[in-house]
Amino acid sequence: MGNIQKRKRQHKGHLALSKKYRLKRRTKDHDQIDDDLKAGVVEKLLAQPVDFDKPGLGQFYCVHCAKDFINGDAFKSHIKGKPHKRRMHALKTEPYSIAESQRAGGMGSYKAPAKRKMETLLPESVAKGESIADVKRRALGLGDEPIVDGEETVKDVDVKEDGGDDNSDSEDEEGDKRM
Ligand SMILES: [Zn+2]
Repeated sequence: MGNIQKRKRQHKGHLALSKKYRLKRRTKDHDQIDDDLKAGVVEKLLAQPVDFDKPGLGQFYCVHCAKDFINGDAFKSHIKGKPHKRRMHALKTEPYSIAESQRAGGMGSYKAPAKRKMETLLPESVAKGESIADVKRRALGLGDEPIVDGEETVKDVDVKEDGGDDNSDSEDEEGDKRM
């Protein structure tokens, strides 16, 4: 007896998949990258500690695109490519500020966002021409940086001593007043 099978939705079309990839591929927003490019931050990103969970052990990272590459060759071909050049162009314009939006909104005179100089910054390993084997040797041999595998060390545990008095349900004794 062949029951007519109710059509089950085995395939969710492209929706579920594309959402997954959208979230997976999502990197930093431009304003976050702007923060990354600030002095004091960018140096650390260009010389990250070796991380075996990251592609290229985190040694071939493009700060402008917030992306890890597997080796120096992949990095070099990336910076010649269109997505990187497009990103560099976008980063040349300064981030949109509140003052700017007010000017654009008729408060004060409008001033076009300033263009700034933007050059591709090379990670230390690319500048040194290291291969992935060199990186591993560096990580295992003369490892001055401890290998962290994704786990953050808990440095400052906030122990707050709650010395407050607990008067959330204070009894009021006015309930049984005698008349
Ligand atoms: Zn890039």
